[in-house]
Amino acid sequence: MNRIPLVAGNWKMNKTVPESLALAADIVAGLPRLDDVEVALLPPFTSLWPVSTSGIGDTGVVLGAQDLYWEVSGAYTGEISPAMLSGWCRYALIGHSERRRLFGETDDTVNRKVQAALAHDLRPMVAVGETLEENESGRTEEVLSRQVPAGLAGLDEAQGLQVVMAYEPVWAIGTGRTATPEHAEQSCALIRRLVAQALGPAVAESVRVLYGGSVTPANAAELMAQANVDGALVGGASLVAADFLAIVAAAAPPLA
Ligand code: PEP
Repeated sequence: MNRIPLVAGNWKMNKTVPESLALAADIVAGLPRLDDVEVALLPPFTSLWPVSTSGIGDTGVVLGAQDLYWEVSGAYTGEISPAMLSGWCRYALIGHSERRRLFGETDDTVNRKVQAALAHDLRPMVAVGETLEENESGRTEEVLSRQVPAGLAGLDEAQGLQVVMAYEPVWAIGTGRTATPEHAEQSCALIRRLVAQALGPAVAESVRVLYGGSVTPANAAELMAQANVDGALVGGASLVAADFLAIVAAAAPPLA
């Protein structure tokens, strides 16, 4: 199956509104044709709407939120509801390891957020991955075998077709230490098998599994050449337009 690669830039807690508008404009100005790769920007919440109304909609670039809460409204100071994002924001990143590690998110809260996103027409980008200690003790498979079904619990096939998975080994995020292409491929292939077990072969065949963790222009092509790696979730390098554009170019399959 021909899966269109997706390159998503997670800006994390970086960029003021004017800085976000400038970065989005630089990215859009340098983008190639978008038929063969999908590009998503995930600015901080304060910048999401300004970036969305800055003209990027005409370019094919789409937006994603870095997180959301599972309730629709109410006394949840500081949280952002899926209803507030629905209709103009395509993706919601859920379960990023920084959310799990620094803000106490669990497999259960990840699943609640996935369900809430889907109920509001947002496509969940579900991040999973092992810590350094888990990696070094040979427990990558065990961790993914827990996180993937837990994150996708309760979904039906139609909902599964909206999901994007992101394999993000925690030890590779923001460290400059990238997974080898072999490790990325092995883990992304495992995630696809776990999706097949949870949601069936049709979903597994079409779900995009991204790799994230210190992706740079220098390593992107080799990572994305792997059969089960369908794009990249990019942190640090997404804050520099030229670097992000080079990663987008590496993800686009060669034109026939
Ligand atoms: C991320 O935060 O999802 C990420 C992959 O970060 P970085 O590219 O900086 O490692």
